[in-house]
Amino acid sequence: MDIAVIGSNMVDLITYTNTMPKAGETLEAPDFALGCGGKGANQAVAAAKLGAKVMMVSKVGEDIFAENTVKNLQQYGVDARHVTVAPGTSSGVAPIFVDDQSQNRILIIKGANAKLSAADIDAAAEQLKACSLIVLQLEIPLPTVYYAIDFARQHGIKVILNPAPAVAGLDIDYACQCEFFMPNETELEILTGLPTSTDEEVLRAGQMLLGRGLKNLIITLGNRGSVWMQGDTVHRIDPTVVQAVDTSGAGDAFIGCFAHYWVQHGDIAKAMQSASAYAACSVTQRGTQRSYPDAETFQRFLTA
Ligand code: AMP
Repeated sequence: MDIAVIGSNMVDLITYTNTMPKAGETLEAPDFALGCGGKGANQAVAAAKLGAKVMMVSKVGEDIFAENTVKNLQQYGVDARHVTVAPGTSSGVAPIFVDDQSQNRILIIKGANAKLSAADIDAAAEQLKACSLIVLQLEIPLPTVYYAIDFARQHGIKVILNPAPAVAGLDIDYACQCEFFMPNETELEILTGLPTSTDEEVLRAGQMLLGRGLKNLIITLGNRGSVWMQGDTVHRIDPTVVQAVDTSGAGDAFIGCFAHYWVQHGDIAKAMQSASAYAACSVTQRGTQRSYPDAETFQRFLTA
């Protein structure tokens, strides 16, 4: 195994409608789609689609969504042996309402994801020890994230911590033990309490976090690209310019791709260049996981 993602999976329940019901009202909506998502699963699928050997440690509910989630991961080549059922829970679901301006209204019900625990990491320990990188996000309980970071340190495994969704109370001392800390500008703002609207503000907020001892801080900035900060060095990666259709899951595409290439060659700037192009390619298609190109499609995109 190259990469282990210890994190969330969600079932996206996407309703397309321009009108939301008021309290007590029932309305008909024109269309509906079911999708597989969750930040952890998205990042695992992005890396696997590029050819990485990926395993996931995750929890599904005791419901009809569980089998579909496992099948979906397996279909993309993700090892789902450690995706297990949390008895008496629902799977994580995200009812999403999309209007014809592509505005999203999203509710997150964590369900089984809230049950992922240290015991699940222990159960997967033998397989995890064989990985060179562990990727974490914050859609699972914080104590489990901290336990995973401790586990990784004990076994000399590098960690990417993607602090999404942002949790103001995140213990930065744990983040400092990770090789990479990868927020977007909104998450950076919540974590530091500083504004991040301009490039100067982003760098100032980044310096504040670096001052607390982070090794590598990589900030994604949507269509403004991304920036890598290490000590006093700032490395900017310009965005790949595309006609964006749907930016949902772009951050996860970036992280999954970065993880794959960094494990392959260890060059941070080059891995960011690839991740930037990969995420840009994904925003030209609708959806999250299904918008992530496989290795062949990505090569075609790069040479077009
Ligand atoms: P975000 O999570 O929105 O910061 O996006 C993650 C990464 O995806 C960014 O750092 C960009 O590399 C890429 N990206 C997101 N939106 C766009 C866009 N509209 N055009 C090109 N690249 C994008």
